Amino acid sequence: MKTYKMLIGGKLVGGTDSMPVINPATEDVIANAPDCTRSEMDQAVAAAKKAFPSWSATPIEQRKQVVMAISKAIQDNAAELVPLLTAEQGKPIKGAQEDVIGGAMWLMAGTQLEIPEHVIQDDDERYSFTRHIPLGVVAGIVPWNFPILLAMFKVGPALIAGNTMVLKPSPTTPLTTLRIGELIADLVPPGVLNIISGSDRLGPWLTAHKDVDKVSFTGSTATGKKVMEGAADGLKRLTLELGGNDAAIILPDVDPKKTAESLFWAGFSNSGQICIATKRYYIHDSIYDKVRDEMAAIAASVKVGDGANPDTNLGPIQNEKQYARVKDIIENAKRSGLRFAYEGGIAQGPGFFIQPHIVDNPPDDAEIVQLEQFGPIVPLMKYSDLNDAISRANATNMGLGASVWSANTEAAMDVAEQLEAGNVWINNFLHLHPLGAFAGAKQSGVGSEGGVEGALAYTQTKTFHVLKQHPNAG
Ligand code: NAD
Repeated sequence: MKTYKMLIGGKLVGGTDSMPVINPATEDVIANAPDCTRSEMDQAVAAAKKAFPSWSATPIEQRKQVVMAISKAIQDNAAELVPLLTAEQGKPIKGAQEDVIGGAMWLMAGTQLEIPEHVIQDDDERYSFTRHIPLGVVAGIVPWNFPILLAMFKVGPALIAGNTMVLKPSPTTPLTTLRIGELIADLVPPGVLNIISGSDRLGPWLTAHKDVDKVSFTGSTATGKKVMEGAADGLKRLTLELGGNDAAIILPDVDPKKTAESLFWAGFSNSGQICIATKRYYIHDSIYDKVRDEMAAIAASVKVGDGANPDTNLGPIQNEKQYARVKDIIENAKRSGLRFAYEGGIAQGPGFFIQPHIVDNPPDDAEIVQLEQFGPIVPLMKYSDLNDAISRANATNMGLGASVWSANTEAAMDVAEQLEAGNVWINNFLHLHPLGAFAGAKQSGVGSEGGVEGALAYTQTKTFHVLKQHPNAG
């Protein structure tokens, strides 16, 4: 069985402890990954700290060259990385391509960004300007749903801005990230990018490490709060990309059949395991039945299976814990007497497979409406008054994304303005742009990734005031 290595200070390190990694489609152990010890983590942080002075002094154009080299290594090795990601994550090959190649493209796009410098005053008396300087050592902590794309959201801007990094993938999806570490070991100056994998003990250690200056975390809101606590002592800078409970509001003027297809994939892509998946649907009552029946028909037609199989549309739930959680949510919905527009069922193992489930018009206080399900079960709700639908959509402490569906873009924009979310899609879904800021409102996040805003989150300002006619001049 293949054993993977961590990248610490430019060296590939097997590690003292190891942990098994499971294919969620078969439940077979497919490899062993290092379970980073505290002293190995200390070495990774020390390597990042040691590399910081020279890396931050390296001209930005050279730093961008290194990021481009990482991107190229990922692209050149996609044929190996994509099936590896499918094996550990479960997603179909096409989704794994989007994750791996998307990550490489995201890195490339980030190299177009300039870190701005602002002149505040430039007159006979004084020259004052603000520069954005790097922070130091960044801990990048990544979830299991998009292991590569979400890691590259962090790696590109952190390194380009002049920071060094310790990157930690999720315990259940470490292999592709570790393999990328092996491929880039000679392309990145030692210590600039370290990759360590480990079990649940590792995240809290890393977050609280005294030499970590910033934590860039993507994961659940509950864990994000723990990260904030862990980072408090050192007053570390934070970017938190957290959970969502995205609402879609569907106006009465849409074509039910055509829209249902997009609505279905907005909620069920990656088996619902997407932070910006649609997790609640508010459908006007004049078209509710048609949209519901179309979505149910699509649910019945999709093929759930091993992602390695080319005709699979939806893979398994990524890990056993989440599988148990989604099964609980389905059981609770049944126990509460909710109606299902489509009830796909749960396959007998091996493999963490759950077919799509669509809940038919549950009450607003049902668990499936209130919490982030992060799996292939969604609730559809009726509305008759648009203002009422907007306030129901906003009645949550989450605020990651939302969408509005209408034949009238202006009317949809009016609704979009009123939705409390960091991202709103009109007649489309799941689209992100590397040059656009991606942020969560309310408890969906702190700060943003992507765009200049995301890059500046890896810097702090330093303002210089230079007196032109100074008394020390000869
Ligand atoms: P999670 O919060 O359980 O874990 C995320 C990462 O944090 C993992 O690497 C984990 O090992 C680490 N971790 C766990 N406990 C920690 C601690 N106490 N301190 C530091 N690190 C710790 O999330 P998950 O289950 O892997 O991912 C699903 C969640 O992520 C969902 O809520 C989803 O909405 C969210 N998510 C958000 C975004 C976004 O950009 N906003 C993107 C993807 C996923």
